[in-house]
Amino acid sequence: MQPRDLSDHAVYRAGRGIEEVARDLGLDPDDLVKLSSNENMFGPSERAVEAIRESAATMHSYPKASHADLTEALAEEWDVSDEQIWLANGGDGALDYLARAMLEPDDPVLVPDPGFAYYPMSARYHHGTVREYALSRDDDFAQTAETVLTDYDGERIVYVTSPHNPTGSEMPTEEVRTLAEETDEETLVVVDEAYGEFTDSPSKRPLLSERDDVALLKTFSKLYGLAGVRLGYAVVPEEWADAYARINTPFAASELACRAGLAALSDDDHVEETVETARWVRDYYHENLNARTWESGGNFVLAEVGDAAAVADAAQREGVIVRDCSSFGLPECVRVTCGTREDARRAVAVLNEVLDR
Ligand code: PMP
Repeated sequence: MQPRDLSDHAVYRAGRGIEEVARDLGLDPDDLVKLSSNENMFGPSERAVEAIRESAATMHSYPKASHADLTEALAEEWDVSDEQIWLANGGDGALDYLARAMLEPDDPVLVPDPGFAYYPMSARYHHGTVREYALSRDDDFAQTAETVLTDYDGERIVYVTSPHNPTGSEMPTEEVRTLAEETDEETLVVVDEAYGEFTDSPSKRPLLSERDDVALLKTFSKLYGLAGVRLGYAVVPEEWADAYARINTPFAASELACRAGLAALSDDDHVEETVETARWVRDYYHENLNARTWESGGNFVLAEVGDAAAVADAAQREGVIVRDCSSFGLPECVRVTCGTREDARRAVAVLNEVLDR
């Protein structure tokens, strides 16, 4: 027998892990710095680590109270009702829930190019079809309503990433408002704010009070350093928030993830240090990398380096792992995560040395 026709499904290729690279190159993992997956280089909040330790002994139970408590805390943070918080197994899981709630077979969605690979994957898993809108490098990947509307043709979901991965560009709230106004009533605009806390620009949250066709995507993977436990959520309009109960996987986020998430939410020092450092490092990359870089609202910077595959490979041999953006359709660019200040100094020294060769 065979599965259904999966020929148009792409395979997700994550940035390579430290152990993998160290093994390939015969290096000590401790000598490597991984700046390829936009993780939090300070690690998780100590409070989250402690919460996981404490809840380890009760992991034989299904997550009930922790799921409800985290939902309540997030609802309070975003000033929405509990039903409007859709917890999931990572932001990826929340994208799946949105697709599951929205798409009938063959419904089209519109995704950015370049863009985050999981939008089209998730849509296809849910029997949708995929079209793209172009963010133009000549325009510094600027994101306006017009950029999207030029390619919009009545799709059911339009994905906007702000700050955008991998370019760092942003779409102002006013432009998202216009986009939502100009698209059909039955088109959902998903604003992915996975990197939302690293920018000075405000969240698009106010739009949820104005309209029923904008949803937000959030993750604990970046700011909170919890990529490994897989925790994310969507914030959706009140009008159809009850759909969650009909489409979610039972126990959508694990006990450990919920406990860690709750603890991380309360760790203001960890959050502050993470954001402050990312902003400092962004500036440091802009000023010191001997390559063109783009203004970024995220915890990473896109740099034009010529042959990205060769540069990423050479930097890796020197112990610095960056993301070759060929798979994003940008074969001349690498994306460099903002690590600690020390990571950043090393990344700049190595990349500049490689670029000089
Ligand atoms: N959106 C964007 C733009 C991302 O870059 C990522 C992670 N790479 C995600 C969503 C999903 O993150 P996670 O599933 O780890 O929450």
